[in-house]
Formats: sequence, C-alpha cells, structure tokens
Amino acid sequence: MRRVQILGAGECGLPLAHQLRRGGTSVTLVTDRNAEAILSGSVTSTQVKFPTTLDLESQAGLGVWDATAPEIKGIRFTMAIDRNPVAGWTGRLSRPARSVDQRTVFARRLADFVAAGGDLEITDLPLPELDRRTADYDLTIVTRASRELAACFPADPAWDVATGPQRRLAVFYLDGVQPDADNMGTYVSLPGYGEVISYPGLTGPPGQERPCEMLLFEALPAGGLDVFGPHGSATERWRQAAHLLNRYLPAALADRYRSAEVTDSGATLVGAVTPTMRQPVGTLPSGAPVLGGGDVVCRMDPGGAQGANNAVHCAFHYSEAILSNTSGLYDRAWMESTAQPWLTAIAHPAARWTMAMLDPPPAMQALMLAAQEDAVLANALADTFAQPANMSEFSAGAQPDNHGERNARTAVS
Ligand SMILES: Cc1cc2nc3c(=O)[nH]c(=O)nc-3n(C[C@H](O)[C@H](O)[C@H](O)COP(=O)(O)OP(=O)(O)OC[C@H]3O[C@@H](n4cnc5c(N)ncnc54)[C@H](O)[C@@H]3O)c2cc1C
Repeated sequence: MRRVQILGAGECGLPLAHQLRRGGTSVTLVTDRNAEAILSGSVTSTQVKFPTTLDLESQAGLGVWDATAPEIKGIRFTMAIDRNPVAGWTGRLSRPARSVDQRTVFARRLADFVAAGGDLEITDLPLPELDRRTADYDLTIVTRASRELAACFPADPAWDVATGPQRRLAVFYLDGVQPDADNMGTYVSLPGYGEVISYPGLTGPPGQERPCEMLLFEALPAGGLDVFGPHGSATERWRQAAHLLNRYLPAALADRYRSAEVTDSGATLVGAVTPTMRQPVGTLPSGAPVLGGGDVVCRMDPGGAQGANNAVHCAFHYSEAILSNTSGLYDRAWMESTAQPWLTAIAHPAARWTMAMLDPPPAMQALMLAAQEDAVLANALADTFAQPANMSEFSAGAQPDNHGERNARTAVS
C-alpha cells in the first residue's frame, strides 16, 4: 500500500489526508495540536471560502456546514474619507461564499480522520527527525513549515514580493452585530489607513455551532488602525476596535457593531503576514525531496481572501495526482510537474489578485469607480474574488505592474 506522510493539519493537510484515506492510501498526519487544544485556542483566520472551494469539499463529503453556515451573497465595497462614503459598489457573487471558524473545521476533521482509520501524530517534528522519517514513506508533503524547514524550499525567483507585511491584522469574532440587509460581506477601504472587512460566519465547537460576524482590520503599518498589541484580553481588544469603528467608519456602518461582543475568550487574533512565494519542491539536508502545499508555497496577505481557498484547491489537486499515479514513483520530477498546474491555475492568479487589492494600480481603481454605475461590472468584480484567474478578462492594466510576478502580464493576458 502507498504510504504518505503529511505535515500540518490545516486547510491543505486535512482534506488531502481525507482524500488519500478514501482512496486507500496509508496516511500519517503530523500536526502540533489535538482537537481540544484547537477548540480552546484562539481564532486563526477569517477563512471565507468561495463556491468552487465549497464544491470540492462538498463533493468529497466534507461539506458538513453547507446548510448551516450563513450565506455571504456578495461584496459591498465602500471607500470612506473622514467617515464619509466617497465611492462604493455592491457586487453579487454568482453563488454564495461561506466562512466556518477554522477551530470548528479542523477539530471536526481531525476527529473524522482518526475515526476513518487515519494515523494522527501530535508532535513538533525537528527537521533531522522529519528528514530521517521520509525514507519510511513513498511521499512526504509539507503544509506547515518551521523557519528551518521553510528554508529548505527556495524562493521562487519569478516573484518579487514585499519583504515585510503589507498590513497589520486584527481579527474579531462577534455576537450581536446587526446583519447586512442583503447578506453581503462589507469591504471598507480607508485611504491612508487600510481596510475593514466583515462578514457573517459560523463558530463554536462541532455540534454547537452558531452564527457570528467575523471582522478583520487590515491596518497600514504605523497608521491610525495599527493600534493592537500582542497582549490583552479579547474584551479589551474589542473595546479598542469598537473605538476605531466609531472613529473611522461611516456612521451607518459603525452602528451595526454598537451592541457587539466577542464570541469567546479566543475570539481575537493580532498579527501580520509576510507574503512569500516559494518553489513547490523542498530539499531536506539529506537531499530527500519533499512536496510543499498551501501557505508553505504561496502565502498571501488575507486582504484578498485567497489563502484558504488556495490551500483547499492544492489539497484536491495533489490528492488526485497521487491517487492516479500508477508508477509508484514520487520523485522530484513528479513533484514539480504535479505542483505546476495548481500554481498556474490557482495560486499565482490568487497572489496577483491579492497584490492588486492591497495596492490597486490606476486601471484597477478606474474599474472600481466604473462599477458604481455598472451592476454587471460590480458583479464581475465580486466574482473575481472567487476566481482570481478571471482578472485577465479585465484590462491587463488592472493587474499590478511594478511588483508581483516578474512576467505577470505575459503569463495571464
Ligand atoms: C487574519 C487572517 C484572515 C484570513 N482570511 C482568509 C479568508 O477570508 N479567505 C481565505 O481564503 N484565506 C484567509 N486567510 C488565509 C488562510 O487562513 C490560510 O492561507 C490557510 O489557512 C492556509 O492553509 P494551510 O493548510 O497552508 O495552513 P494552515 O491552515 O495554517 O494549517 C497548518 C497546520 O499546521 C499545524 N502546525 C503548526 N505548527 C506545526 C508544527 N510545528 N508541526 C506540524 N504542524 C503544525 C497548525 O496547527 C495548522 O493546523 C486568512 C489568514 C489570516 C491570518
């Protein structure tokens, strides 16, 4: 029987492990936390998933929350200056998106994996130990990397990404938020400060899930929204956040949060993401190749809402390739050719889209303005969150031109 080892049990590792088990593969899943630790910990993302991602999960029997997670029907974009809305459009997604707390999802999937006969190890494998163990498996896939392990994956020379975080992040899961009238997610751009993004989702331990609102501050470093420190309780942080909403958001938007409270003591997260583009095949100190997936290969700022979607697509792409490999050979050449279609179709367009959202080039700004008067264009812009590869249908100038992939325009237009 084929033997696969997967490091990291998140958006990529869990569906990959599930699919390989279903396909009759012996899978060892190595992760740092069990379900109890995940559920008693802090939120890790805002993880909105778009329809093609939800479809993959549903078709694999992983769509546990399809009927209960609130629908996010589209995107209500507002640009505000001094609390006044100065531009805005509302785009309806062709099909709704949804978001379920990763604590809920990962805890449930870990339990299901073990119930299905999967081999789960809760440990933090040092690099030499991982290296030694690769010989025991036909294939090792890395979906979570320490700094030392990440260094085994060379940077992708085709990309020129920011060397530090583009935003400082603060996440809040909230009860008591007045819902958007049309079940839209809201995306508020505050020039000079960053963005405030919010949508309905589902939180709570498996079996006790309930709706909430998920709020993400994307603060320009050192700007007025960049106030959250690493310490403080969820309630103290929420007090700071409520103050920011009242100070920067148009009154009608800020009012929605007037009676809000955090859902639980782990309902907040503060941090930053340094975007990273790596080659998909790493080389361990012994010379053994390992296949990278999800954030290990393509790590994006959350402002484009792409990372979880990208990781799930990676999982399904890799599982199909592994299960259809009849040669039993999973060498470096196989790894490179397996990763390439995912990178080309999903990961790289997602990275370009994220860059364009965080720092819109002039043509993108023009599209945003035109969308105010053009509902078809507004819907198309909303759907581009779901299918970033469709960005090439807009003008080539709407893509980032002085950063990102060095050959971006020739690659997609
Ligand atoms: C604030 C925020 C908001 C976001 N919002 C969105 C969004 O709306 N939409 C979207 O698509 N993406 C979003 N993302 C990105 C998304 O969450 C990630 O891109 C996605 O989770 C990556 O999946 P992954 O499988 O690569 O890694 P992860 O999902 O992070 O999984 C890695 C796993 O490895 C485990 N692990 C940790 N340390 C070790 C260790 N030493 N050994 C073994 N295992 C270990 C972790 O417990 C975790 O389960 C957001 C991210 C952040 C930070």
